Amino acid sequence: MQKDKHIIHMDQDAFFVSVEVRKNSELIGKPVIIGGSSDRGVVASCSYEARKFGIHSAMPARTAKMLCPQAIFLKGNMDEYSKASHEITEIITQNVPLFEKASIDEHYIDMTGMDRFFGCMKFASELRQTIIKETGLPISFGLSVNKTVAKVVTNECKPDGQMEITYPEVRPFLNPLAVHKIPGIGDATYRKLSEMGVRKIETLAEIPQDLMFKILGQHGLSLLQKANGIDLSPVVPYRERKSIGTQTTFENDSMDISKMRAILSGMVTNLTFELRSQQKLTACITVTIRYSNFETVTQQARIPYTALDSFLIDKAHDLFKKLYSKRMLLRLIGVKLSHLVSGCEQISLYHTSEEEYDLYQAMDKVRQHYGVESVVKACIVKSPPRDENDKVIKYNPRKQKLNKEEGEERKKSRIRTFINSDIGSTTKLDG
Ligand SMILES: [Mg+2]
Repeated sequence: MQKDKHIIHMDQDAFFVSVEVRKNSELIGKPVIIGGSSDRGVVASCSYEARKFGIHSAMPARTAKMLCPQAIFLKGNMDEYSKASHEITEIITQNVPLFEKASIDEHYIDMTGMDRFFGCMKFASELRQTIIKETGLPISFGLSVNKTVAKVVTNECKPDGQMEITYPEVRPFLNPLAVHKIPGIGDATYRKLSEMGVRKIETLAEIPQDLMFKILGQHGLSLLQKANGIDLSPVVPYRERKSIGTQTTFENDSMDISKMRAILSGMVTNLTFELRSQQKLTACITVTIRYSNFETVTQQARIPYTALDSFLIDKAHDLFKKLYSKRMLLRLIGVKLSHLVSGCEQISLYHTSEEEYDLYQAMDKVRQHYGVESVVKACIVKSPPRDENDKVIKYNPRKQKLNKEEGEERKKSRIRTFINSDIGSTTKLDG
């Protein structure tokens, strides 16, 4: 029964900014913006003082500068934020048997069953104090009967807050809130609901199921449940969190290093696209190779949270270089990204230029429409055919008489990546 559940949602207050403030006390109480500089990039995070000016994450830095000219812009350091994130997770690991790391600065804790031994509220507030004392970073929490309500509670009481909403209080607590307070309501859904005149959770909760399904499909039904304070999704233990990976067995064993590097780049490109599609970040990359004698070796590296190809491709190449120590043919190569958490805006932290951030978003949009291989980095594309003078032979169906099959093949090869043409089989790993 939902009413017997006790779920805590813990969330750091303005996490990136807090890490900066911990380092430099002169920033206390000032409007601080992380991500980009005053005229480039996008806001990855901002202090509560900056939020008072209407600044929010994902906003172009230029707009933020206009809203608050005195704001202090910091480039941000994902390395440090990732370390701080691990500090917090470590404290929670030592104190709690069952928790889920939901994002770089959020954890869900399932206290169900333990409430008989500890008062949940007492336990949660002690844990919160421990985190504040040991890390010097501010944190808030909400305690309620499921993940969704607990998160809404946290959002209502932060910054520097804590609150419990018990089972009988859930509906009265949710009812007067605006619909966009429900986690997972995107801009499009919010607009649709607004057009229908649905502004408060109370109104949303009363919409008949079939109407909701007609307007928003399956997503609508899940929203309806949330509006009614129902959420059956479990707290997924940290260690069991999914990873994504892919591996490739070659048709013919190979020792061609530049080919291996290109294959790795292609595999990482595909995986990071998937990561960004799921709005996830990874903190660990693993590369596996298998020699022709079936000897298999693996190397792993902890990395700052990221979802960017360029960074992960370099890491994958580093690991491959360390791994490939024998001059022996290879039969398999694999990459895995693990320690996944939710998060998307943070990807901008590696890229100070707005253009590059926009480029990534545009490339992902093309891939969503035309498939993951429709846009790729030049380094993983097969070089085009050349004539005897080393000039690229351009494909022109009117001038060149190719038979239909050849023509089709040429057309395809222009967009197909190196990876697919040279491998025997590719397996997707999930788990
Ligand atoms: Mg937070």
